[in-house]
Amino acid sequence: MNAEEFREFGKATVDYIADYLENIRDRQVLPSVEPGYIQNLLPDEAPEEPEQWQDVLKDVERIVMPGVTHWHSPQFHAYYPTANSYPGIVGELLSAGIGCIGFSWMTSPACTELEVAMMDWLGKLLDLPKEFLNCSDGPGGGVIQGSASEASLVALLAAKERTVKRIQKERPEWDEGTIKAKLVAYTSDQSNSSVEKAGVLGSMTMRLLPVDEKCSFRGSTLRDAVAKDIEQGLIPCCLIATLGTTGTCAFDSLVELAPVCSENNIWLHVDAAYAGAAFICPEFRHHMAGVEYADSFNFNPHKWLLVNFDCSALWVKNANDLVDAFSVDRIYLAHQKQGLAPDYRNWQIPLGRRFRSLKLWFVLRLYGASGLRKHIRKQVALAQTFEKMVVADPRFELVLNASMGLVCFRVKGPESVTKKLYEALLKSHKIYVTAATYAGSYMIRFAVCSRFTEEKDVLFAWKEICDQTECIIAREQNGHTGNSFSKITPWQTTQDPEIIPANATR
Ligand SMILES: *Cc1c(COP(=O)(O)O)cnc(C)c1O
Repeated sequence: MNAEEFREFGKATVDYIADYLENIRDRQVLPSVEPGYIQNLLPDEAPEEPEQWQDVLKDVERIVMPGVTHWHSPQFHAYYPTANSYPGIVGELLSAGIGCIGFSWMTSPACTELEVAMMDWLGKLLDLPKEFLNCSDGPGGGVIQGSASEASLVALLAAKERTVKRIQKERPEWDEGTIKAKLVAYTSDQSNSSVEKAGVLGSMTMRLLPVDEKCSFRGSTLRDAVAKDIEQGLIPCCLIATLGTTGTCAFDSLVELAPVCSENNIWLHVDAAYAGAAFICPEFRHHMAGVEYADSFNFNPHKWLLVNFDCSALWVKNANDLVDAFSVDRIYLAHQKQGLAPDYRNWQIPLGRRFRSLKLWFVLRLYGASGLRKHIRKQVALAQTFEKMVVADPRFELVLNASMGLVCFRVKGPESVTKKLYEALLKSHKIYVTAATYAGSYMIRFAVCSRFTEEKDVLFAWKEICDQTECIIAREQNGHTGNSFSKITPWQTTQDPEIIPANATR
């Protein structure tokens, strides 16, 4: 492909993307394909001769789009959002165009320096303590990781090195392997699966501790677990606390957890993957009280801050902990300006790194802080609109109060009805929600995700939920009057007679 063709192909693709996003409301959020569908549409071998880009672009619509789950559809309410915006997309394009690999300052000074500056802009927008910023005089700083999963693993590995060094001084008779085998990490049973995975990858026991009735991880729970481990001769090493859990968007109590960490030399890492973006709004910052005690703090601009995946912001109070843990030098990696700017390869797992700060820069400049705050506040307000409809309808109940852009609800009565509702919603493909459990009981999560979601879409989703519920309840009642008695057994064996909905009994 020559430059002239690239211009045409590129412009046509940008037009395609704009058409796709502007008309995404017309596409069904969930695809209707079966596993293996693409294999039936593709030739078995790569083409021997080059093809025309026009044909390839046509095949995107024919082959790819039928199998796309439209994450930016206004009817997408599953998981948490993944960010997408025009400035973010153009930033990605430019990053691909420059195509540098910024593993040291010298391999592209702009790649490192724009990232240093953007992490400070972002840290200031969140009002993070100054020690976390690159511009502080101390050893703290921020870096862009690929994902919150990597950020948790990086923090855990740094905690591991730091603890091993400390214990080696106290117990010179223990070798490194002996110490490492005794290390323990802590998190709540509500933390993201990636946190448990960080323990697996980092070869460290990870205790998944219970939470209170609001799904928040409390200080006393940690204190007891730590005391028990110390008694067993183990060494507490790392805590991964969550601000905005994936299941219910609950907030762990940093203020209570932090003293236990500092008394026991435990590294405190804060995973605020989703909810962290909300801290650009002063009214939500009370949720991060105690962040000043953290050793590291992470959130995903690629979730709720309109910067396309991947862009996960990690700040540490002492970057030397990362460099000490990860620094492996070779002659070919050395350069003359070493030490004057961060060599970010020592702050992360891979060697190579993309120019991810470009998209962050574009988004911050083209939305402005005010535009980003508006986005967050609008989505929180839409979740509250949905919450009000749940509360107003006697067939439904909230499992927990709405938190940020997330509402967790269920159909009153036996669990089976909520389960059936979830299955019916998945089958009808009109909206996409996910299910989860809270305190052992089944619930549906409704998250406001797409930047295209408006009030009319929330009303549409609610109508679909009500329609499906209506059908299920009618079917249950028919079953009840019919001969399939076994179907209604769960209604009758439910332990709490109060949770049988009035309109669901005969
Ligand atoms: C989404 C999420 C993650 C995982 O984020 P990745 O960037 O995909 O690794 C981690 N923690 C929480 C609380 C999340 O909601």
